[in-house]
Amino acid sequence: MVENFGTGDRLIRATAVDGGIKAVAVTTTNLTAEAGRRHKMSALTTKALGQTMTAALLLASGMKQPQARVSIRLNGDGKLGLIFADAGFDGTVRGYVDNPSLELPLSNPNSLDLGSALGTNGFIQVIRDVGYGTPYSGNVELVSSEISENITYYLVSSEQIPSALLTGVLTDDNGVDVAGGLLLQIMPQARRDYNLLELLDSRVKSLSEFTALLKQGMTLRQIIENLLGDLGLNIIPEEQPVKFKCRCTFDRVLGALRMFGEAELREMINEDQGAEATCQFCSEIYRADRFDLEKIILNLQESAKSS
Ligand SMILES: [Zn+2]
Repeated sequence: MVENFGTGDRLIRATAVDGGIKAVAVTTTNLTAEAGRRHKMSALTTKALGQTMTAALLLASGMKQPQARVSIRLNGDGKLGLIFADAGFDGTVRGYVDNPSLELPLSNPNSLDLGSALGTNGFIQVIRDVGYGTPYSGNVELVSSEISENITYYLVSSEQIPSALLTGVLTDDNGVDVAGGLLLQIMPQARRDYNLLELLDSRVKSLSEFTALLKQGMTLRQIIENLLGDLGLNIIPEEQPVKFKCRCTFDRVLGALRMFGEAELREMINEDQGAEATCQFCSEIYRADRFDLEKIILNLQESAKSS
């Protein structure tokens, strides 16, 4: 268990084969632990969310606009319910699951197969938002009880990007041991090269235990060097820090309280001397006292007068 929440996770980018292959790798141990702690999650749901947040960060890293974000919704008919993650090109990510305390016996505790927890029927939806205009959204049916297989299938079938994606979260009795992921994609100029596709496939198959390599103490750089070092590898020197960070603020919570209207806000003042709201995405608890609520009421009255 890593104590230092929110620091230490890193993302690196590389290219190989004259830019024909793009590679991104990320460690997400700390941010997965933080999500687990915030939402009071079981080992099972931490694995599910950790992998989805890892994939969201890898997808968002490939966007070009600084304010771009990618969100992933996995909605199966299993007991997990919805798994949601939302990541930015800036390296921030947040997420939640419908049923954080769910525990189900897994045949192998470190298997990536979520089995009946995810369910067999359902959808995965990916939304890419560049920060302006209508976000691009695509969805496909679930094809597997493994998270990365579903997301790979989405990338290949919906976005038509030949991709290989590995994500993993290893847990022990103390919580999250290691977490991370790797995304390899064939760039448009190289997509007619079938040898390259086969090569990529065989290399990724040789690396099915990505998180085990992290656990052995290998760095992202070493893993990518082992994987693509003989293929004209170019690793971008800057490593990007990534972290769990929500976009909620006290002002947004106050804005949401406006919707209750004056009568209900007065009731909250009289009965509870305030109101409490929990952010769905990060479980942060916000407390508005009676003065905050009275300010909202004043504001509501003023806007009613001026309209
Ligand atoms: Zn939040």
